[in-house]
Amino acid sequence: MELHIACIGGDGIGPEIIAEAKKVLAKVCEKYQHTIEYDDILMGGASIDVYGVPLTDETIQIAKSADAVLMGSIGGDTNTSPWYQLEPGLRPEAGLLKIRKELNLFANLRPAVLFPQLAGACPLKEEISNAGFDMLIMRELTGGLYFGERYTTVENGIAKAVDTLTYTEEEIRRIAIKAFEIARVRRKKVTSVDKANVLDSSRLWRKVVNEVAKDYPDVALEHMLVDNCAMQLVKDPAQFDVILTENMFGDILSDEASMVTGSIGMLASASMNDTKFGLYEPSHGSAPDIAGKNIANPIATILSAAMMLKYSFGMEEESKAIETAIHKVLSEGYRTADIMSQDKKKVSCSEMGTLVAERI
Ligand code: NAD
Repeated sequence: MELHIACIGGDGIGPEIIAEAKKVLAKVCEKYQHTIEYDDILMGGASIDVYGVPLTDETIQIAKSADAVLMGSIGGDTNTSPWYQLEPGLRPEAGLLKIRKELNLFANLRPAVLFPQLAGACPLKEEISNAGFDMLIMRELTGGLYFGERYTTVENGIAKAVDTLTYTEEEIRRIAIKAFEIARVRRKKVTSVDKANVLDSSRLWRKVVNEVAKDYPDVALEHMLVDNCAMQLVKDPAQFDVILTENMFGDILSDEASMVTGSIGMLASASMNDTKFGLYEPSHGSAPDIAGKNIANPIATILSAAMMLKYSFGMEEESKAIETAIHKVLSEGYRTADIMSQDKKKVSCSEMGTLVAERI
């Protein structure tokens, strides 16, 4: 198969971690006889430096014409970087919001996996961390409270702020379909999270999810209230496979889920539209504090590349080969600085990429 990838190195550690993902992808292509072609494009601070804006229309067109986008991370030190002297619409993060909108990326997928080799980094009780967990949070990304009408007024001398949480049944249906499709290639369970005991938008959410579930009799569906879900994530995370939820609940729950893994440098993510197209990037930021030192952990980006193979190209075996290679490297005791513990072998960012590539 020919893979045509638009690739955004970005800022900070972005170019370093992307180089390692490319190294691993090259090895996968060699082994499984695929060819890969990259269009390297600029976004975020790197684009501001060259074009004066964080994302150009030409860059968007290149991204649109690719099969998928693979990204490092964007942004600089928000206290010291001159990029943050610019007006908000011209700062690095505006590029990310714009590309998500232009590519209609409404589904955000964030796996939270506790690697057994890193169970010690998990802040949960030992009996919970020893059991491990592997869940995927599917967050609706373009609707709900963050995109509803909002205003602040003063009534009778008292300030009042209003935010509105709106969802249409189409918006709910398309993300629910995505969640059930992905649960099918995982452990076949969807937990839909809402606040249906209080919110109208949640009652509509639950109704539409129930309708969609009828087309997926092989996938188990349960509904859970968001407050209970927040508790269950720390009490018994192993119960979850795919968690499906709206924008703000997903924002909060996905951060909670990533924290209980204890290793931000290990967490991948994807943002997808209603085709197989997606933008794949690590969950972490550009880590300007360690940029250029060759000490970043490239595993989150390598796992994002594995997600790309699975969800945009249907290459389950190739994707699994990357995950297995990472497990091997960790089992052999190799660690980047962020996940280092006693008696393990400390390696650099580029060494970690090479070790994973060699085990494909
Ligand atoms: P961050 O995730 O970049 O860093 C938080 C901490 O985690 C830092 O100590 C960093 O060194 C460490 N860290 C992150 N990734 C690591 C890795 N792969 N290996 C080892 N250590 C790692 O978050 P931040 O400091 O709040 O943000 C820095 C910049 O990144 C900001 O400009 C922010 O806006 C941007 N950001 C971008 C994205 C994105 O590109 N999608 C996401 C989040 C933050």
